[in-house]
Order: sequence, then structure tokens, then C-alpha cells
Amino acid sequence: GGAAEPPPKLVLDLERLAQIPAEKAGPLQRYAATIQSQRGDYNGKVLSIRQDDLRTLAVIYDQSPSVLTEQLIGWGVLDADARRAVVVHEDA
Ligand code: C2E
Ligand code: C2E
Ligand code: C2E
Repeated sequence: GGAAEPPPKLVLDLERLAQIPAEKAGPLQRYAATIQSQRGDYNGKVLSIRQDDLRTLAVIYDQSPSVLTEQLIGWGVLDADARRAVVVHEDA
């Protein structure tokens, strides 16, 4: 068999995110801004985030990571490829 491909990254489209009304996207906008601040990464049009961050955001949004991923794809904030980046955990 061939070598395993690395999983696709979770890459937020920051320009699209800024266009989503704050009443929906406020928590994610603040989370992304915090990561940018911690990295000193202010000039990007996109922001790669950790798998762990998606799990944290899912708790904040009271949704499963896969449902939240679908919502972010619907907003245009994540690429459809992000579906394959969501690690499915069998617990719970
Ligand atoms: P930290 O978690 O102790 O990471 C320290 C440094 O290790 C980071 O500094 C970065 O240079 C490197 N690093 C850690 N994990 C990765 C990774 O997956 N990929 C790459 N390319 N580098 C990695 P940096 O970027 O200045 O970040 C400083 C601190 O800001 C981090 O300390 C962490 O506490 C926070 N942070 C930055 N980005 C993220 C993020 O995407 N999610 C979360 N939860 N925290 C972040
Ligand atoms: P990639 O991860 O596929 O990222 C492609 C381009 O998307 C990057 O080009 C950059 O313009 C943008 N990008 C992705 N994530 C972020 C982000 O969190 N913040 C910002 N500001 N921009 C982002 P770039 O910088 O020329 O990097 C080309 C490739 O080099 C990256 O492809 C990646 O494979 C590698 N690379 C660059 N920096 C790092 C790093 O800190 N850690 C690791 N592991 N790879 C890196
Ligand atoms: P990446 O830099 O290509 O790293 C891919 C994966 O390698 C990370 O997935 C993580 O599992 C592992 N990894 C890389 N560097 C480190 C490290 O210093 N410490 C640890 N414990 N693991 C590391 P993950 O966490 O899902 O992150 C996905 C992408 O998010 C990273 O791709 C990078 O583009 C970005 N990222 C995450 N954390 C940081 C950070 O602290 N600083 C920066 N600049 N970028 C980060």
C-alpha cells in the first residue's frame, strides 16, 4: 500500500469570518483573534488552527466537532476539505 497522506489542516478564512454577523460568529472571531495575538500572526488572510481548538470551539458552541465543522463550511470559513480533518472519537 501507499504511504498515508497527512490529514488536511483546519484553515480558517479570516476575511470570510469577518463578514459573518458577530451574533453568530462572535465566539469564533474572538478565539481566532486570541490565537493571532498569541502567535503575533496579524497579517494573514487565513489562520491554521489546532485539532484541539476545534474541540474547544465545539464545547463553546454546544455542538459536536463534526456539526460545527459543517456550520463553518456553510459559512465559507472552512474549506470542504476540513471534513477529512475532523478526528472522529468513538467515546460518548
Ligand atoms: P506553546 O503551545 O507552548 O507553543 C510554543 C511554540 O511552539 C509556538 O510559538 C510555535 O512556535 C511552536 N508550536 C507549537 N505547536 C505548533 C504547531 O502545531 N505548529 C507549529 N508550526 N508550531 C507550533 P507561537 O506560535 O509563538 O505560539 C505561542 C503560544 O500561543 C503557544 O505556546 C500557545 O500557547 C499559543 N498558541 C499559538 N497558536 C495556537 C493555536 O493554534 N491554538 C492554541 N490553543 N494556542 C495557540
Ligand atoms: P500551508 O500550511 O499549506 O500554508 C499555505 C499558506 O497559507 C502559507 O504560505 C500562508 O500564506 C498561509 N497560512 C496557512 N496557515 C497560516 C496561518 O496560521 N497564518 C498565516 N498568517 N498564514 C497562514 P507560506 O507561509 O508560504 O507557507 C508555505 C508552506 O510552508 C505551508 O503550507 C507549510 O507547509 C510550510 N510552513 C510554513 N510555515 C510553517 C510553520 O510554521 N510550520 C510548519 N510545520 N510548516 C510551515
Ligand atoms: P503544522 O505546524 O503543520 O503541525 C501539524 C501537526 O504536528 C500539529 O497539528 C501537531 O499535532 C503536530 N505539531 C507540530 N508542531 C508541534 C509542536 O511544537 N508541539 C506539539 N505538541 N505538536 C506539534 P495541530 O496541533 O492540529 O495543528 C495544526 C496546525 O495549526 C499546525 O500545522 C500549524 O499550522 C497551526 N498551529 C498549531 N499550533 C500552533 C502554534 O502554537 N503556533 C503556530 N504558529 N501555528 C500553530
